[in-house]
Amino acid sequence: MSEKYDAIVVGAGLGGLSAAATLAKNGQRVLLLEKHYRAGGYAGSFVRGRFEFEIALHELSGLNLDAKRGFFYRYLENLGITSKVDFVKLDTVYRSVFPDMEVTVPAGHEEAEGVLVDTFPHEAEGIKRILGRMSATNKALTLIQRGADFNQPEIKENFLPYLDKTLTDVLNMDVKDPKARAVISQIMGYCGLPPSELAYVIYAIVYDTYIRFGGAQIKGTSQSLANAFVEVVQEMDSEVRVNCGVKKILTETGRVTGVVTEDDETIKSDYIISNVNPLTTCAEMIGIDKVPHSFFQSLQTKEIAMGTMNVYLGLDIPHQELGIDEFEVFFNNGYDFDAAWAKSRISIEPADFALATYNVAYSDASPPGTTAAVITTLSYADPWYRVPLSEYVDTKNKMAEKLLRKVEKIYPGIREHIEVIEVSTPLTNMRYTGNPGGSILGTPYSPDNIFMNRLPQKGPLKGLYFAGAWTLVGGGFQTCIMSGTLAAQSVMAKLSKK
Ligand SMILES: Cc1cc2nc3c(=O)[nH]c(=O)nc-3n(C[C@H](O)[C@H](O)[C@H](O)COP(=O)(O)OP(=O)(O)OC[C@H]3O[C@@H](n4cnc5c(N)ncnc54)[C@H](O)[C@@H]3O)c2cc1C
Repeated sequence: MSEKYDAIVVGAGLGGLSAAATLAKNGQRVLLLEKHYRAGGYAGSFVRGRFEFEIALHELSGLNLDAKRGFFYRYLENLGITSKVDFVKLDTVYRSVFPDMEVTVPAGHEEAEGVLVDTFPHEAEGIKRILGRMSATNKALTLIQRGADFNQPEIKENFLPYLDKTLTDVLNMDVKDPKARAVISQIMGYCGLPPSELAYVIYAIVYDTYIRFGGAQIKGTSQSLANAFVEVVQEMDSEVRVNCGVKKILTETGRVTGVVTEDDETIKSDYIISNVNPLTTCAEMIGIDKVPHSFFQSLQTKEIAMGTMNVYLGLDIPHQELGIDEFEVFFNNGYDFDAAWAKSRISIEPADFALATYNVAYSDASPPGTTAAVITTLSYADPWYRVPLSEYVDTKNKMAEKLLRKVEKIYPGIREHIEVIEVSTPLTNMRYTGNPGGSILGTPYSPDNIFMNRLPQKGPLKGLYFAGAWTLVGGGFQTCIMSGTLAAQSVMAKLSKK
């Protein structure tokens, strides 16, 4: 039997890492247990040949690197993360490529508005209105985060009336041209739903944040961010163990009491924060008979958000020689994003996709004279389950080939320069992180699953808390990090009462 900890955190994804770092920074003795050989979950890297690939991050939100005063930046600064990680601002938010046109949207509200209006002059008024509306919604959220009264006019007018609206509901009030609508909806994939299902409020916050402040990348991949969290925990005399999965969470009369690791070590604590998805945590690690049935019923009503298929490319040529100048390029077959999304739900055939080229963000993302890039397309696990195991590798390689052929139309010659290639599917996501359906965002941001309607940090047993994409605030880097903080704060409130 080991010593007793103030809290044990299970899983070192971003939610678990921020929970452990917040607790440790606040003087609690924490043990963070991760089953994989490295911390980070989706936030991390892997190596093939001479390339280190970013697993997940396309664009990090909320840092406001120009002014270094974004709420999220200050939060990371207080934890001691910003001094350990090199963040890089992305000047372009995205380039949208369609069969008959393309547009590159820069960072900066006025700059982005200018480009959109120049591209769609007949929609000038509508574009200004929707960008202003999204900005007002985002500003109202900032007021709420600062504790403002919900009766404040900015919140009453710009936030509350939109809570049950989808992106389509609101965008269509302002903009009529389907092409302009598509360009403005382009980064819906970051929120995990098509425009007709995605909560407007979430898209408004995400879009306005990226447009106003620009997205960011992390030098040395998001593994540097994960490692920085680990260092913070260790510097505070708390402990992080990798290669140390948890197989059981122990309970006694309705409260958690500790964990049993895969090596059969029993470790005691009255507080457990699980960064493992709540279904696995409760059904497999605790036991169905020990958790109130109503909890499982509440989980059943939630859809599982999308996963991804990725084609990681190590190219033996600098990106400039292929004409790749923007970090994030979206390739769209058409303007009806809802229809494209519907096909992805039932088929493994890749529809629209993005190409992220890391050397555009920072030149040393790969060895001199080479390029590290990744093609990402949304993909659900269900259609992949129907591929026979014996055909799985061939099938995913065929799908990768289809994506490459499309990329080659825009960047001719790219295929001849592939030195290393690796392909992942939602099943890969499941294998490495244990997330059901290989979901990258937990449950999706539909209007009925945002803010307080998401699964809370407090779990169904005393002393049990959740962090990560499946809970409040939701999936994504910034939001998962915040979810861990919320879980840590709940535990600290209990510990301070003791
Ligand atoms: C391809 C891709 C692109 C993405 N792009 C972006 C982007 O551009 N911007 C953005 O904000 N977000 C992006 N995301 C989403 C973001 O990465 C995730 O939402 C977020 O990282 C999830 O964090 P989490 O806290 O839920 O933990 P997860 O990453 O799900 O990690 C859970 C951890 O728990 C561990 N674990 C599981 N079972 C056990 C056990 N029994 N014992 C111990 N440990 C266990 C796992 O090994 C894992 O480390 C992307 C994701 C992917 C895959």
